[in-house]
Amino acid sequence: MHIFEFIRPKDSAAAIAAAAQSKTAQQGADVRFMGGGTTLIDLMKLNVETPARVLDINRLPLDKIELMPNGGLKIGATVRNSDLAYHPKVQQDYSVLSQAILQGASAQIRNMATVGGNLLQRTRCIYFRDTTMPCNKREPGSGCPAITGHNRTLAILGSSEHCIATNPSDMCVALAALEATIHVQGPKGSRAIPFGDFHLLPGNTPYRETVLGPGDLITHVTLPQPIVGSKQLYLKLRDRASYEFALVSAAVVLTIAGGGITRARIALGGVGTKPWRSRDAENALTGQTANEATFRQAAEAALREAKPQSENGFKIELAKRCLTHALRTATAS
Ligand SMILES: Cc1cc2nc3c(=O)[nH]c(=O)nc-3n(C[C@H](O)[C@H](O)[C@H](O)COP(=O)(O)OP(=O)(O)OC[C@H]3O[C@@H](n4cnc5c(N)ncnc54)[C@H](O)[C@@H]3O)c2cc1C
Ligand code: SF4
Repeated sequence: MHIFEFIRPKDSAAAIAAAAQSKTAQQGADVRFMGGGTTLIDLMKLNVETPARVLDINRLPLDKIELMPNGGLKIGATVRNSDLAYHPKVQQDYSVLSQAILQGASAQIRNMATVGGNLLQRTRCIYFRDTTMPCNKREPGSGCPAITGHNRTLAILGSSEHCIATNPSDMCVALAALEATIHVQGPKGSRAIPFGDFHLLPGNTPYRETVLGPGDLITHVTLPQPIVGSKQLYLKLRDRASYEFALVSAAVVLTIAGGGITRARIALGGVGTKPWRSRDAENALTGQTANEATFRQAAEAALREAKPQSENGFKIELAKRCLTHALRTATAS
């Protein structure tokens, strides 16, 4: 493991000023914030991340979950994943988020992991994590061995000829379906980023994963006012029952009146190069009767653009079944 300087900034302004000196906030950043460290330190041990300075942000006052005057929820960036999942308001009004977090990682990791860090967790693509291999995400222009190699767990939506890595987060899938907003404070001030605009598709710059620039500190995430009476479910399918990333997952948030679906928010995990909100599935559901035929049509719509690789074609049907089953289960309750 390389030598680095470990700093505890006294406040957000000091943290932002220090991080703003980094050349990039993307792969290869020489200054990194640290939340729980469960992604960052892991990747530093593998020499995939080699920052010269690590800024521990755990003493900043970003660890509160607060009700907002508009009825929404404000979640600080250093709130632990466990604290968020077990918060009574989250369990009651945003249960899809609680379910998604609790199906991720292990209890120990969730106790350490922060909301900000989870938003920025990195792909589990084996070539990305192995510095003896080429990888366009880690070393721009070096190639993508996954396309002709081991790609069983990788993406079928949003990939490019330069990268097919999956975004592995469960929490992010729920946040996409809940239409969260990410709040960032940077060297030029504050901004609010709609969840769908935060992560980037790989295109020909797979090393750029989000819209963040040097010095941008995620301060909090907000959730809109809860939808009264909405039916919410997170369904995760994986190779083993716990402590495993999703092969496919689905977050559904539905409003039903008189047997008809009046509002649908759908996101998929394990299949996209970013947390995958499916407006096609939402359109296929909205205004329709909540029945098996409608659910299957929505699943077909969600996967219409899927592009399988040599080992992961099975994900297309698995994702359709996952979404259909999630819709069936959510509406049966
Ligand atoms: C064995 C294992 C199994 C796992 N299984 C799952 C799983 O099944 N599902 C799942 O979803 N996840 C899983 N994870 C991933 C885990 O959820 C993430 O590692 C965790 O959420 C990252 O949070 P952190 O606070 O530890 O991030 P850190 O490691 O502290 O940070 C991650 C990145 O975010 C940046 N960062 C952190 N906070 C901020 C901020 N406020 N502003 C700007 N940048 C910031 C850091 O600089 C770093 O680049 C697993 C992890 C491990 C190690
Ligand atoms: S899929 Fe992306 S992360 Fe994996 S080897 Fe290819 S470029 Fe690297």
